[in-house]
Amino acid sequence: MHTPVTANGGEKETDMAKTYTCRDVGVDCDWKAAAQDENVLMAKIEQHAAQAHPTIVLTPDLVAAVRGAFKDN
Ligand SMILES: [Zn+2]
Repeated sequence: MHTPVTANGGEKETDMAKTYTCRDVGVDCDWKAAAQDENVLMAKIEQHAAQAHPTIVLTPDLVAAVRGAFKDN
């Protein structure tokens, strides 16, 4: 799996947000988050997971699944 290289040409205010909900990866949780940048979104998810799902270990496989569940808003 390659890390997508996104052109960083200016910051559009809307349209390009990535969204994520825990349910997308099968977690029984309605938490959702959005960010322009998937690395920023991933950081939010890591923070949420540490607080709300301390039993879930963010393995590389799970991180890949989480990233795969991101939706373009
Ligand atoms: Zn959650």
